[in-house]
Amino acid sequence: MSKTLTSLVYYSRNRILGSPELVFQEVHRILEVSRINNARVGVTGALLFNSGCFAQVLEGPQEAVEATFERIQRDDRHGEVSLMSVGPIADRCFTNWSMAFVGASQVDADRFGGIAGESGFDPNRMTGDRVHAMLYNLTLEEEQAT
Ligand code: FAD
Repeated sequence: MSKTLTSLVYYSRNRILGSPELVFQEVHRILEVSRINNARVGVTGALLFNSGCFAQVLEGPQEAVEATFERIQRDDRHGEVSLMSVGPIADRCFTNWSMAFVGASQVDADRFGGIAGESGFDPNRMTGDRVHAMLYNLTLEEEQAT
């Protein structure tokens, strides 16, 4: 397996239907499976769910990140999956997280709403670096709060 570390950022639209409680239950099921699978193949990262959208950072060995993203793209629980950035990295940013989760708090909602609002919710106008930085900062804040 290649030792090159890769980071990938994408954005997608939620397709899970039902009440907010049911949607959050399904998102938590996604997280449970993700944490098990990612830990197995050395993938770390963060997932944001908010305002009907997902944004996710995946980092790890290139082949593992690509295989994980292939599965994610085929998942009917979201759609319009837009790759925002992908490329080699020297070091991981989410070392402690097989998949951190942000998006449940009002602070997260406001921060994501601000970035998404500026771009008119057009993923093509949101940069991967900006979304990566937002997920990194929110994850650090959650880590410090616990
Ligand atoms: P199986 O569990 O065998 O499922 C077969 C197919 O059905 C797959 O296409 C799967 O995507 C889809 N599927 C599974 N459950 C449901 C369901 N309840 N409703 C609709 N379709 C379903 N997986 C990771 O391993 N790591 C991640 O970081 C990760 N992040 C994700 C982020 C988002 C926003 C979403 C929506 C999914 C994410 N997943 C992640 C889940 C991923 O898409 C796969 O479901 C999971 O990896 C299991 O893959 P599998 O091929 O073993 O699928």
